[in-house]
Order: sequence, then C-alpha cells, then structure tokens
Amino acid sequence: MSEALLDALVVGAGTAGIPTAVHAAHRGASVLLVEAAAQVGGTLHVSSGHMSATGTRLQARRGILDDAQAHIDDVMRISRGTAHPQLLRLAATHAGDTIDWLMDQGFEMAPECPVIAYSHEPYLVPRTYWGINKGLSILKVLERLLDQALHDRLLEMRLQTRLEALEPLPGGGWQAQLLTGDTRSTVRTRQVVLATGGYGGNAALFSEITGGYPLLSPAPACADGSGLRIALQLGGRLQNRNVFLPTVAGVPAQAGGHWLDWERKSNLTPQHRPPWEIFVNLQGDRFVAEDDPSPDARERKLKQQPDLAFWVVFDQSVLEQAPPLFVQTPGEQMLARFGNHPAYQRADTPEALARACGMDPARLANSIARYNDGVAQGRDTLGRRHLPQRLDQGPFYAIRHQGVTLRCWAGLEVDASLRVLGPDGQALPGLHAIGEILGGAALSGDSFASGMSVTPALTFGRLLGQSILTCHSERSAT
Ligand SMILES: Cc1cc2nc3c(=O)[nH]c(=O)nc-3n(C[C@H](O)[C@H](O)[C@H](O)COP(=O)(O)OP(=O)(O)OC[C@H]3O[C@@H](n4cnc5c(N)ncnc54)[C@H](O)[C@@H]3O)c2cc1C
Repeated sequence: MSEALLDALVVGAGTAGIPTAVHAAHRGASVLLVEAAAQVGGTLHVSSGHMSATGTRLQARRGILDDAQAHIDDVMRISRGTAHPQLLRLAATHAGDTIDWLMDQGFEMAPECPVIAYSHEPYLVPRTYWGINKGLSILKVLERLLDQALHDRLLEMRLQTRLEALEPLPGGGWQAQLLTGDTRSTVRTRQVVLATGGYGGNAALFSEITGGYPLLSPAPACADGSGLRIALQLGGRLQNRNVFLPTVAGVPAQAGGHWLDWERKSNLTPQHRPPWEIFVNLQGDRFVAEDDPSPDARERKLKQQPDLAFWVVFDQSVLEQAPPLFVQTPGEQMLARFGNHPAYQRADTPEALARACGMDPARLANSIARYNDGVAQGRDTLGRRHLPQRLDQGPFYAIRHQGVTLRCWAGLEVDASLRVLGPDGQALPGLHAIGEILGGAALSGDSFASGMSVTPALTFGRLLGQSILTCHSERSAT
C-alpha cells in the first residue's frame, strides 16, 4: 500500500470518517482509513448522539410539516444569522437522507423521536432524534458497515496509527507520514480527508484558540486537535476563532482536571429538573434566573462570569427534599465528595460557607436573604419562577461548577465541496475536512442548535464518500 497512489486517505475513524471511508470504498475507491486510537468510534463513545433533520420518514409518519429551509431558518434564528450559510444549507438539505439511511441500516431510534429538545435552544418543531443508546447506537450501525467493508476487502484500516504530517506531492496529491507504535511509514494519496475531530481533549490548544478560557470538557483524549494543527501548518485557515459559548455546566471529575463525566453530570436543565438551588458567582452574587427557559440566555450570562465558574448553593432541607442534582448519582455518593474534592464545600452558616469557597461572606448572605424574600413574596428579583422553598436550614452546601465545552467552536475553513481553504482563500487541492475539525460554529453559529455536530459529521462523510471524492474506478453506490 505504501508505494501505490491511493484514492483517499481518511484520517480518523469516528463519526465523520467511518461513513466517508465506507461509502467511498463501496464506489470502488482505494481507501486507507487510519485511526490513532486502538478502537474506532471517536466521540461517539461519549456523545449524546442527538441529530436533527427534516423531511424524514419518521416526521412524515407523525404528520410533522417541516423542510430543510425551515431547519435553516431555525438555525439562523437561534444563531442570530451567524452560521455558515453554504455549509448549513448543505448539511440541512441532506440531513433527512442521513436519518432515513441510518434507519435502513437498523439504527435503534428512541421511540419518542423526533422531539423538540431542550438541552440547547429549542427548535420550533420536533426534528431532533437520538438512539436508544445515544452515540453508541450510531456507532453500532457504523461499526457493522465498516466491519462488512473490511471483511469484503473493500478498504484497509490501520488502528493505533496516527497521521503526523502531510506534504504536497509535486504532481498533485499528498504524502502522509504515519506513526504506528514506534514504526513510521508513508503513504501517497490523491486525496486526504481530515476527520480527526475537535480539540476538547487538549487544554493548551483550547486556551490558545479561545484566548484563555478554561477548559472543562467531556470530550475524549483522542480529541487532541492534531489534525487541525497539521492543516494549519499547511496554510489552512481557522474560522470562528472568537466564537465560544459555554454549556451550563459541570464539575471536573478530579480537582484541577479538565475532564467532565458527562454521564454523571449535574442536571441543570430547568425543563428536566426545575432548580431548588441558587447559582452565585465567585463573589457570591446571583447572576441568572436559574430556571430561565432559554439555554442560550443562561449560557451568555455564564460567559460573563470570571473563570466561567459559579457555585450551586443549597441547604440541608433542599438536600433532603429535592430530586437528585446529579444524573445517575445517588445522594450518598454526592455527599461523600464533601471534604474530598475542593469543588464541594459545606458549612453551618452562609458566611462560613462563603469563607470556605473564597466568596465574600456578606454578598453570599445577602444573595440568600434576597432569594428567601423572593420565595416569601412569590416574586424573585431575577425573574426566577420556580421558588420551591427558602434556603435557611443549615448546614449549607456549595458545589463549584464551570462552563462546559461540549464541542469546539473554531475550526478549519472549507468551501462547499468541503475542501480546506488555504491562506489566499483558494482550496488546497485534494485536502478535505469534515466533522468537528470544522468547528461547531460553522454549522450553528455563535449558539447551540441541537444535533448540528453529529448530523453534519455523518452527512458530510456520506456526501464525500458517495460523490465528492474522486475515484479511479467506481462500483455501485452504497
Ligand atoms: C459528551 C458529548 C456529547 C455530545 N452530544 C452531542 C449531541 O447530542 N449532538 C451533536 O450534534 N453533537 C454532540 N456532541 C459533539 C459530537 O459528538 C462531535 O462533534 C462529533 O461526534 C465529532 O465527530 P468527528 O468525526 O469530527 O470526530 P470524532 O468522532 O471524535 O472522531 C475523530 C477520530 O479521529 C481520530 N484522530 C484524531 N487525530 C488523529 C490523527 N492525527 N491520526 C489518526 N486519527 C486521529 C480520533 O482518535 C477519533 O477516533 C457531543 C460531544 C460530547 C463530548
């Protein structure tokens, strides 16, 4: 394989890379899929796997009137017109086919879908879908297709093989330097598809790109931004460098760490669990109506807080009365963290709690007192509506939360054929990029639109593999 000129080297066997490789291989392209990790799947191992699409058979069955233009309009409404118009149109136009294709391949759809999802700014109509096992349901389909293609010798795959560098070949195409264990090798290829994901596993790169925001992310370590760095060294352009919005919010699994266990995150979505606690910033001031129904509004308020941080404050009575704050975490497990993790603090009075947390004692005491007045009067100063009970029975508790980076926002600039653009705005021939390496802001602008990372990753992978990549000899399409 090292001597022959491949049709395509696909880098990254995740959400975007697997469909690219499988579809291209079925057309007869000579494809090598390389994956740095020991297993395929990338972020699908942890992703919620929410997808959004219109014109699907499931929507039709439910009588939901919807089309790609309505999806585009909705994303543009949510993002205040900041999504990339061409890429958004490409993704939205083909997303319905992606969902129907997944269903044809045996995808196990959750029976309630499509729905309006509330974890991000909601769409106007039900067009969000997920599998019964979240991202793993998508991976189950992709893995089966990949295994079949490998079994049929339609493509080659190398696990634990990392792309280290790319050089343009004099006559066109690329020479790729690969590292498998300690062994270096090169391959020559007409086209390269960078499907290497985001950089949510790389705190230094994240800080460099966002201009110093702290990272807290559930992304796997494989999301190290190495593919992005390679493309930037070749002259690729970074788009949306200044766009960033934290998701509300999480606690690092380990003190000082930047990894968040998303499966056991705290449940701060008011539509799922109306808040019993108050949120105060590092000074001790409330800064948001904790049950504001708009995720976008809550996220923008959080972005203004130093270190993207706040304390979730409650009292003994809330501890006993309220539904569990953390998903899949019994109360006693949460309690065991107090005294063992600096993000968890407990004290007999609000003032002592503030001192333990490094807040201003008078400001925290005032925040609690004003909240309690609001509960008594049925009217909160910040407009919060869910006011279940006063916070006045010690001991008092505080859990330090931080804004979460669910997916990276900045990424490579590409044209409508998903070719990486060089410094002069011209496409670098034969170099494509898809998935989170494009940055989430390309598809949902400076806000979150549900499903607009996973669905475009799958959809662009399918489009590249089915038609955009050039193949020397074509078989019948998948
Ligand atoms: C907890 C969580 C929940 C999420 N929920 C949703 C959701 O509900 N809906 C949504 O739309 N989005 C969601 N996202 C985001 C979405 O899952 C990702 O953006 C998307 O899956 C990324 O797909 P990808 O193919 O670009 O990257 P990945 O799936 O991460 O695949 C990239 C692959 O490339 C490999 N790789 C990296 N560098 C190299 C290299 N140099 N050489 C070889 N291989 C390399 C990696 O090992 C990895 O396997 C979520 C993200 C997280 C972390």
